[in-house]
Amino acid sequence: MLTVLRNIAQEIDLAGDLVSALRIVARSVRAAMRVHLCRIYLVDHKRQQYVLMAFDNNDVLPVPSQSVALDDGLLGLVSERVAPVAHLNLTALDGKGKLAFLGVPIVYHRQVLGVIAVEEADHRIFSEDEEAFLVTLAAQLAGTVVHAKDMGFIFRAEVTPLEATCLQGISAVAGVAIGQAKVVYPPADLDAIPDRLITNTKSEIKRFSAALDLARLDIVHLQQRLESTLPKEEQVLFSAYLQILNSADLKADICAEIEKGQWAEGALRRIIKKHVMQFAAMTDHYLKERAEDILALGQRILYHLQEKRDQPGTYPEKTILVGEKLTAADLADVPIDRLCGVVSYSGSGNSHVAILARAFNVPTIMSAAGFAVAELEDKRVVIDGYHGCLYSEPSAKLLQSYTLWAKEEKELDKQLQALAHLPSQTPDGRDVGLLLNAGLESDVALALTVAATGVGLFRTELSFMSKPQFPTETEQKNLYRQLLQAFAPRPVTMRTLDIGGDKALPYLPIREDNPFLGWRGIRFTLDHPDIFLMQLRAMLSASAGLTNLQIMLPMITSVDEVDDALALLQRAYEEVSAQGLKITKPKVGIMLEVPATLYQIEALAERVDFFSVGSNDLTQYILAVDRNNARVCARFDPLHPAVLRALHDAVGKAHACHKPISLCGEIASDAVAVVLLLGLGFDQLSMNPGILLRIKWIIRTIPYEQAKALVQRVLLWNDAGLIRLEVEAMLDNAGLGGLIRAGKE
Ligand code: PEP
Ligand code: MG
Repeated sequence: MLTVLRNIAQEIDLAGDLVSALRIVARSVRAAMRVHLCRIYLVDHKRQQYVLMAFDNNDVLPVPSQSVALDDGLLGLVSERVAPVAHLNLTALDGKGKLAFLGVPIVYHRQVLGVIAVEEADHRIFSEDEEAFLVTLAAQLAGTVVHAKDMGFIFRAEVTPLEATCLQGISAVAGVAIGQAKVVYPPADLDAIPDRLITNTKSEIKRFSAALDLARLDIVHLQQRLESTLPKEEQVLFSAYLQILNSADLKADICAEIEKGQWAEGALRRIIKKHVMQFAAMTDHYLKERAEDILALGQRILYHLQEKRDQPGTYPEKTILVGEKLTAADLADVPIDRLCGVVSYSGSGNSHVAILARAFNVPTIMSAAGFAVAELEDKRVVIDGYHGCLYSEPSAKLLQSYTLWAKEEKELDKQLQALAHLPSQTPDGRDVGLLLNAGLESDVALALTVAATGVGLFRTELSFMSKPQFPTETEQKNLYRQLLQAFAPRPVTMRTLDIGGDKALPYLPIREDNPFLGWRGIRFTLDHPDIFLMQLRAMLSASAGLTNLQIMLPMITSVDEVDDALALLQRAYEEVSAQGLKITKPKVGIMLEVPATLYQIEALAERVDFFSVGSNDLTQYILAVDRNNARVCARFDPLHPAVLRALHDAVGKAHACHKPISLCGEIASDAVAVVLLLGLGFDQLSMNPGILLRIKWIIRTIPYEQAKALVQRVLLWNDAGLIRLEVEAMLDNAGLGGLIRAGKE
């Protein structure tokens, strides 16, 4: 069965579209299990019915019904139980004879998406092996079905009118945004191209022909450029490429697909995939390899098709950026004064793209699912970042409400400006320093515009990520100097290079099976003293004549890592001092983000001056939930009782060692979490600039003793959901409801 499963998986991969994939499955299942009929239904949730997507029979049994009510008969039982259902003695539809039936659900995130059902016209007992085979297949299929649903491949004609539909995701940045959707497709990834129906086939063919010409021109230029350097036999490749691009068949096939009403990108995907499949199935090794060439050329044509759509300047005035898998670079491409909101179908609130969106303070929804991204193109949409909802083409009433709330939010932000120069102190006199998280070169300007106590986290890796190679020591020094000077005398905490995990340098790809448990942060820099020393020297020399530099070490797990890092820092200090620069030794701190550090705080406190909790990673490692994985993002909850207890211990131990402790993860920007962080006794919180005054409003409104009493109460609870509700009630009672929902109150 394993070989059969593997072959089916491969065929599904190559199928190109969902219906073909389901047909392949139906055919393969019937052959492998030797049954009379295999049928595959998918659930149309809107109509509450199963829709027949594919079947394969040998005419012994009649053609199955096209649709079945969701609660009807044995299929209904499968969806009710969310488990396989077998029946050995079923009366056939025509009343003659008996049937054996086995149905297994296609399940994703506890929801039944469809059913694979097999039937036999005789008495038959399906073995446990056969049931396991179908269950495995259904699990494999679930991902494909979900993907196709997101891309809008199924039930296209029946897609819910979007006016009334809310696309549900998780809230990553609170706030209300109203704007026009701009869909970003991954560059030149044929697999990610959805089907899309068009009416003007003529102009689409013109668009395709122009892209084809440009792809041809690329190859000719490449051929000319490499003529003198590449051996003759290698140059044959370009002739082969041109032959494919000039092939009348290829062009005709794609144009025919467009004539049927498919847009150029979709037609290209369908035909290229078909050719790739044909070549890949050949036994001749040489011809088999041509599949790769065809795919590469397809991507190249696609690149030219997309180039037109994605030229800068095509972003609407109020852009809501939407994508299957948005990246930080996609965000950075949008002129900042046009970016109003972000919706990504993958990732979580802790993905890099969400962190950047938070830095820009634009309402953001991650891990959204429901209808096709392409369906949203150019539509007017509303984002409710508090509840993780996106409304497309909202009704006049809905739009009116959100317009009012958006206006109120602006008013609130304006009113909060009055707090800018007031101390960040609770009504009962406790000071809580509010610091900034930063990382971009442009963040230097924050020194003037945001009244913060300083920078609590400068993510130095961001400037490394936007370069084509490691930045030179001088480049680094110049950036750090600007920042230190701009904020002086306020402290600037620079974190040493924290790459790995989801932060890759384009010029140093690190491939690992478990990147979040791998070569990250200090583990990388200690293994690369050359790179580490360069950065430490740049930081120290940037601080010449100033006293506000603080250095922070990420991903510390063991005490010896701190010893090694301090030894290198001492060496850098001596080297810079030897140049005659007057350097004040910086305070050094570590991030508490690996649970192991929580059990070594005393030993660590002997070596460093301060602690800062990285709650993004600490939550990920305590809960064993990948901070980036949309499948488990609902389980990533920093209010989980285990995380709160860990934070409580960390603060207690740091204070017992007379060391200050701050928190610089994303929860310092979350109104509900901040009440708890206040009650837990954190000395400082470091957050995104756009949220700072809102957080100051909380600090100036809720007495420390009240927050502390709340923490003592909820620390005994076991349900993060109840804890959140309790804190929300406190915020509401304190007149701070505007921080947890759209509008002012
Ligand atoms: C954290 O882990 O909480 C943190 C602040 O660091 P980063 O998000 O950059 O990993
Ligand atoms: Mg971290």
